[in-house]
Amino acid sequence: MTIMLTGGTVVRSLRPTIVEATDLALDGGRIVPIDAVPEGTERLDCTGCLVVPGNVCAHTHLYSALARGMPYDFAPPRTFVEILQRVWWRLDRALDPATIRASALAGGMEALLAGTTTLIDHHASPAAVDGSLDIVAAALAELGIRSVLCYETSDRDGPEVARDGLAENARFLAATAARERPLARGMVGAHASFTLSDATLAACADLARTQRVGLHIHVAEDAADQRDAAARCGRRVVARLTDAEALDERSLLAHGVHLDADEIELVRAARATVVHNARSNMNNAVGRASLAALGDRVALGTDGIGADMFEEGRAAYFRRREEDLETGMTWPLDRLAEGTRVAGEAFDEPLLGHLVPGAPADVVILRYPAVTPVDASTLAAHWLFGIGAGTVRDVFVGGDPVVRDGRPVRVDPDALAAGTREGATRLWRRLETIDVHPFEPMEATSGQT
Ligand SMILES: [Zn+2]
Repeated sequence: MTIMLTGGTVVRSLRPTIVEATDLALDGGRIVPIDAVPEGTERLDCTGCLVVPGNVCAHTHLYSALARGMPYDFAPPRTFVEILQRVWWRLDRALDPATIRASALAGGMEALLAGTTTLIDHHASPAAVDGSLDIVAAALAELGIRSVLCYETSDRDGPEVARDGLAENARFLAATAARERPLARGMVGAHASFTLSDATLAACADLARTQRVGLHIHVAEDAADQRDAAARCGRRVVARLTDAEALDERSLLAHGVHLDADEIELVRAARATVVHNARSNMNNAVGRASLAALGDRVALGTDGIGADMFEEGRAAYFRRREEDLETGMTWPLDRLAEGTRVAGEAFDEPLLGHLVPGAPADVVILRYPAVTPVDASTLAAHWLFGIGAGTVRDVFVGGDPVVRDGRPVRVDPDALAAGTREGATRLWRRLETIDVHPFEPMEATSGQT
């Protein structure tokens, strides 16, 4: 569609921050020069609005979208590994094709309503691996949201499921390479060093290399990952990944909480991106990432706690300010820009996340009567202390309207939610029959972390 967004304040770019009072023209899925659209083009009044690039969530788990309020009848977990054994590794085994779809619809709709236009997802459903990424991609395509998907390959459910996971990544990558799904791309997913054998890790790294995509993997989220690597192979996690040739500039490393200085050096030398998940780290009490040392290649993810990147940016900022008062207000904006850079790489769209002619038209319109001036020097303050998901009015992805006046365009939100509530009820019932996961990471006898 062709449309002119008029009268708004346009944030052309987050990194560097460029703000302009200007109209914005969308045509053929892209931003075009305003004089390139014909007279009489549909106009959308954006007076009193901020027009911003769509947010990217650089690490999430849509499969957990129906976990909200689910029953839990075990003793409270005391460690991160117990959280996995008692909560997430039970939920993922309960998923079937219908509940995978319901989870993707629920998480995808909430993402769009929060102004997130790309989800970089890490999917697991060990009882329904084959075709699972297609189910997620199809649900997200119905909503009109962009995604970069992968299957979480792991040996925790046995060698057969590990093989199936790898095959699902390969199958989906072939489909996206054939451009069967315009709004979806793939990566190679791997769970984490502590649930991967040497052979499975090598196979994941090999697939990522041959397909020229990144490996998306949890790295040192908890100290247990480091203890396992020490016991398993006498090395730190990042050294293990480096030796397996699993680390390059396309890699996406979720968390990176327990990295020592040598590992941070390896990550930076490889130019891999670390995804910081501030709220998830706090919620799981796994520790604090060395954000200053990690530098520029740090993006933000929710790790499944919704997809509201305004909120995630705020939490990451306040959490970091608590220990480093010199953290600048532009830090969260730079992190969001890093997420859009990663998504842009996946789609071979270097201008993704920039509202300039030629860029894909992933645009969010925020209803925001700013009470103080908005320009390049003040935007970061407005981002942290003013705007939020509640101000999202309209969303375009690839030039198509997907949210208008705060409502999804392509689906009936009430009908969708009724369907996902029903899916959640079935999922929770099945969950009651699934026991605590028996998988344990290895423990180093030296106790080194
Ligand atoms: Zn995660």
